Amino acid sequence: MRIAIYGGTYNPIHNGHTSLAQSLIEQNLVDEVWLMVSPQNPHKDNNAAAYEERYEMARLATNRMKGILVSDFERNLPIPSYTHTTLTKLSEQYPGHQFFLVIGADNWTNFHKWYRVEDIMKSYPILIYRRPNYDLDISTAPKGADITIVDTPLYDVSSTDIRNHKKLKMLNPDVLKYIRTHHLYNF
Ligand code: ATP
Repeated sequence: MRIAIYGGTYNPIHNGHTSLAQSLIEQNLVDEVWLMVSPQNPHKDNNAAAYEERYEMARLATNRMKGILVSDFERNLPIPSYTHTTLTKLSEQYPGHQFFLVIGADNWTNFHKWYRVEDIMKSYPILIYRRPNYDLDISTAPKGADITIVDTPLYDVSSTDIRNHKKLKMLNPDVLKYIRTHHLYNF
């Protein structure tokens, strides 16, 4: 099976994340999308809800979405979790699957700084989707890298907006309910 690995802190998950995942399936770029909930993003500070809470919200948001799974695979990997390590371990554990890496145009701008990025690009196809306010120039990619630009609807929302109590319409209602019940992000 073709599996897209879509990593993030999902602090919390919002409709920008889920609609991107859905459109990868709808466009038949992959068979499944695995939302990889990261224990700690090495490029971000650690201002996150607990792992279990972020995982549970991702599960609530994708419950009824075909082909979209939430994974805690990185939970048991050393922190900080590096994408290269995650992909390598996934390939070892699931030799029958072909893994793709999904990143946003925002990630592409600093992708060259990621741990063992050359090796990632040698072994895994990359799906890049556009983000508002980010130019996307893939001419700098090394020769032989398998890069696809994915055209998807753009949703101007980030988890930061949600943590700042903005754009709450971009949350799955069950996720909003969970946030309120558990008093996350000072709700
Ligand atoms: P934060 O505001 O905390 O930085 P975020 O909304 O960017 O968070 P992350 O969990 O860091 O969310 O994102 C995981 C992945 O989702 C990243 O690759 C990021 O590019 C992507 N992403 C974030 N917002 C959107 C959006 N509106 N549409 C599509 N993808 C998004």
